[in-house]
Amino acid sequence: MSREKIYLFDTTLRDGQQTAGVDFSVEDKIAIAGMLDKFGIDYVEGGYPGANPTDTAFFEQNRMKKASFVAFGMTKRAGVSASNDPGLSSLVQSNSDAVCFVAKSWDYHVDVALGISNEENLECIRSSVERTVAAGKEAMVDCEHFFDGYKANSEYALACAKTALDAGARWVVLCDTNGGTQTEEVREIVTAVIAAGIPGDQLGIHAHNDTGLAVANTLAAVEAGARQIQGTLNGIGERCGNANLVVLIPNLVLKPRWNKRFCTSIDEEKLTELTRLSHAFDELLNRSPDPQMPYVGASSFATKAGIHASALMKDPKTYEHVEPESVGNTRKVMVSDQGGKSNFINELTRRGIKVSKSSPKLDTLIAIVKEHEASGYAYEAADASFELLARRTLGTLPQFFKVESFRVMVERRFDANGVLKTISEAIVRVEIDGERHISVAEGHGPVNALDIALRKDLGKFQQEIEDLELCDYKVRILNGGTEAITRVLIESRDDSGERWWTVGVSDNIIDASFQALMDSINYKLIKNRTSIEELSSS
Ligand SMILES: [Zn+2]
Repeated sequence: MSREKIYLFDTTLRDGQQTAGVDFSVEDKIAIAGMLDKFGIDYVEGGYPGANPTDTAFFEQNRMKKASFVAFGMTKRAGVSASNDPGLSSLVQSNSDAVCFVAKSWDYHVDVALGISNEENLECIRSSVERTVAAGKEAMVDCEHFFDGYKANSEYALACAKTALDAGARWVVLCDTNGGTQTEEVREIVTAVIAAGIPGDQLGIHAHNDTGLAVANTLAAVEAGARQIQGTLNGIGERCGNANLVVLIPNLVLKPRWNKRFCTSIDEEKLTELTRLSHAFDELLNRSPDPQMPYVGASSFATKAGIHASALMKDPKTYEHVEPESVGNTRKVMVSDQGGKSNFINELTRRGIKVSKSSPKLDTLIAIVKEHEASGYAYEAADASFELLARRTLGTLPQFFKVESFRVMVERRFDANGVLKTISEAIVRVEIDGERHISVAEGHGPVNALDIALRKDLGKFQQEIEDLELCDYKVRILNGGTEAITRVLIESRDDSGERWWTVGVSDNIIDASFQALMDSINYKLIKNRTSIEELSSS
């Protein structure tokens, strides 16, 4: 029997943006959209093009390889024709594959919030969907407060859904906007909606976690027949968050209750990237991953010594519901380090680095990575630094240049006109092929000055790094008090469009930044040399 597909819809960049303390830059959005696309999510909702400058810029720049890129916004206003509504026009004309409209489906809200008639609201849904479809885009309609609306006036809630589908919408999404609906109610209402003639393969579910039931409610909707699930990375979102895709996906892929009947775009092989995706996203948000998050947390497969541990040593299945490797996580009570080793080899192979399992250099590398991670490095978020460390340890990283020394000065003083100024200056001494290059630069702050000086004169490599650009810089203080350790993450890119992250850790923020800058330049030089032969002849 062929399995039905469950479509995965990510709204991290739209609903997730509502999370307290989360404010994505255009760069963040590009990076996250790229991660979701690469992972294999079907729909990536980007935000509100035309409604705010960040999203407008993001939509202009964004390119998806596989995922459908979705613009979100309101249906047209009442009293204006669909062709004359500026909000609707910016959605339809945006650089997107699909448009997701939010529409009222609770008559009470139509009356109180919109102040229009029920029929006018249906007309807004109909004409907005029709214009979108006529423009060659996929249309979907998020029915806001659907479950509460259905309880109050099921006939009208259904009329909203039917109107959307009759107008040509691919999906109607049932939203539990306040997040208070209980799992049994979701199951009953989705079943009733399908019985009323709305096809399940055109139904989506959008659950919020206000009662801790978002994942359960989503699965209940799938059980009842819905075939699109909406959620966010790590469950971020307003108030208590949205349904967590990082939890939903492994349930659907690994649990026989689901995988016997359903498939998703994420197969078992892709799923092994889940832990890395979840952690990289947290690093981008500059927050520590939740150690107890199902499937991907650092403690998800950790067992303390005792009866459990000894049983686990005999057979891991005794205390694990799935194998940690299936989601790219690791067991914390290790029978041997074989599991860790295979993970490493996979990671290296992915980057084109060959090493044999019995190589003593591999053991050295694993030990160094463990030691570095214990002292604050985050390689999951800084893949370029990981690759450089691996190449350095395995002996395939040439020394392009050597920084003999650097000095950074920050001076705050009044200038000749009595204006207070802060001046940052850096001096860098670099050795290339036995020749010394000294560069001096001023910058906006000490790190910027150091960056400019470092890249001012790299001798024969200068031309190669011309298109290197730093696009993001994140600082995290890892432990409080006077001995605070600083971690710096830097994102770089070049004209090829590739982006890479590097990391530095030190009790001195300038030194941490220096390490990350050095890695960024070295990675740029490495990526220009594709084969090992080229590397060793440099
Ligand atoms: Zn929502």
